[in-house]
Amino acid sequence: MYRCRKCNGEGYEYVDEGSCVVKEACYHCGTTGQVDEETDWHDRLGSVAMALAYQQESEYRKWCDSDPDGDGYDLHAAENMMRTSDYFMARVYDRHYDLAEKLVAMDLPSQKLLVAWEELPHEHLSVRFNRSVQQELETKQQDLKDATSVFGDDDIPF
Ligand SMILES: [Zn+2]
Repeated sequence: MYRCRKCNGEGYEYVDEGSCVVKEACYHCGTTGQVDEETDWHDRLGSVAMALAYQQESEYRKWCDSDPDGDGYDLHAAENMMRTSDYFMARVYDRHYDLAEKLVAMDLPSQKLLVAWEELPHEHLSVRFNRSVQQELETKQQDLKDATSVFGDDDIPF
């Protein structure tokens, strides 16, 4: 048996509902904290799909924002009535489903190679994502400061 990746082998998940954290049974492993080999392999392929989806969407976002004639990624999100971070993750999940299907259809040696690549020691994706959001906010605040510091109090003509 293998450790359940969804609940990290605990059999329960802790879901943050904003005001409180709720302990929920993990239905992936039926609270045992363990899954069989086939499920584990499927989950590992799922992680590969997630990593690729994240990378693709990041590239797409860069491409949107670098197109001088385009609307920019933030506006795409706004058009969908979503915050940029929610829009980003929604699109990552969409890509993830497509990629997972393609991965499942690949031969085993290729799958093994991709799983090995994804499991190389590296930062967890969510850590990287949170940091990029943080950097973005700091850049925006700095831009705002730069923009407002141009006007000293004496320059306001009224
Ligand atoms: Zn589980």
